[in-house]
Amino acid sequence: MIIKNYKNKTVLKGMSLKEIEQWCQSQELSNFRAKQIYQWMYRHGVSEADNMKNLSKDLQKKIDESCVLETLKIEKIDESNTEPTQKILFKTIDNHFIEAVSMLEGNRHTICISSQIGCNVDCDFCATASMGLIRNLMTGEIIDQAIAIRRIVKTPITNVVFMGMGEPFLNYNQVLSAAHILHSHDGFDLGAKRITISTAGIVPKIEKLIEDGYKYKLAISLNATEDDTRQKIMPLNRNWPIKSIIKSASRFAARKGHNVMFEYVLLKGINDTAEDAVRLANLIQGIDSKVNVIPYNETDGKYQRPSTETIEQFLKILNKNKKGFRILVRWSKGEDINAACGQLAVTNI
Ligand code: SF4
Repeated sequence: MIIKNYKNKTVLKGMSLKEIEQWCQSQELSNFRAKQIYQWMYRHGVSEADNMKNLSKDLQKKIDESCVLETLKIEKIDESNTEPTQKILFKTIDNHFIEAVSMLEGNRHTICISSQIGCNVDCDFCATASMGLIRNLMTGEIIDQAIAIRRIVKTPITNVVFMGMGEPFLNYNQVLSAAHILHSHDGFDLGAKRITISTAGIVPKIEKLIEDGYKYKLAISLNATEDDTRQKIMPLNRNWPIKSIIKSASRFAARKGHNVMFEYVLLKGINDTAEDAVRLANLIQGIDSKVNVIPYNETDGKYQRPSTETIEQFLKILNKNKKGFRILVRWSKGEDINAACGQLAVTNI
């Protein structure tokens, strides 16, 4: 269910410029007003019509009475004691909860935002999976996470990753609409390469992203090198096995300026052997890509992080066998506040 109207009010937040123009036409207003409203909502992050200073008092009143300009309320902010990372818990207008994370590193301010309330992809190592899927987020709710963080944290947002709650490609249209607002000059004005959409491997939607020709970055959670193993930790592998993912990733990266990020969460005794490292190198050889190796962040004790020795050995072998890809290691941020990769789940309210 996507909320387009709420208590007989039009949800203006999340609309594209074209949609705001249509709303303006329905109110007998010029397209020029649409652009002003768009800039107030997204470039300036204004959530009260009174603050849209260059609109007439009558129009401010009309917007105030008939439109929703804010879709989320901040419920709680957790700050990490060990690094400049904050986790923000939001309440939606229909009383559900989602989370987003802000991470600072020098001048780089990366935000990790949610695309669904819960998730039904059922990755066995992921805390969000335990919530099941409640509903898709609407575009305004995705954008409001970024707007709220921009108010809380002074450092400008430099990067956005769709790696919070949910599988972004199962909410493709709303996620892409939000990405366009983040990219738009009149919105957040972020370069397309600073916006990363992450998928557990919904192959038809990777193909759609290629067909649609958008320049956003793609991350794929690979997490295993053999179908049997991947199926156990990511059941969607039954529908889209490793071979099909690699084929689509290769097609994505074959276009000029489009490399792929493969995420590989290292789980003790599951996918962390020397053979895994060699197979991983062979699988992605020749694809313009990066591999992001993420030592697992423990949540419920079912899976564990490998020992430092095993992690180092895995990286050494991967490095020795690499052909045409780069390797990064992400020691996730915000572990002490359950804000690290795979830890977002609303259980503490
Ligand atoms: S890892 Fe992502 S796709 Fe998998 S269950 Fe968690 S939120 Fe859903």
